[in-house]
Amino acid sequence: MAPQTPDEPVPVRLEKTENGELFIQWSDSTEQTISFRKLRDNCRCANCIEKRMEPAKESISGEKKLSNILPVLSLQETMPLDIVAMSPVGNYAYSIRFSDGHSAGIFPYELLKSID
Ligand SMILES: [Zn+2]
Repeated sequence: MAPQTPDEPVPVRLEKTENGELFIQWSDSTEQTISFRKLRDNCRCANCIEKRMEPAKESISGEKKLSNILPVLSLQETMPLDIVAMSPVGNYAYSIRFSDGHSAGIFPYELLKSID
């Protein structure tokens, strides 16, 4: 068997594991498991990127005030994260909808592959 070898490997099998992970089998025969949380953390939608920038902004402002109020997780964030839906975008990415209601993320194959 001499399968074609495209430059970019594509997922040939996707599965949710019982441990809250996404199992991906790629066309280049490699296999990968990524936790849902990690996927979520790697989201590159404008919202998530902005959220990740916030702490940096605060420190730049130089305003050092010690607050008694510590960041808390919302109820949704304390629940085990799950993937509710996953659909292909073009032939290069997946759109993933998470159980915390977040669905704006597009995950190109390249990004998925780079997560470990
Ligand atoms: Zn996002």
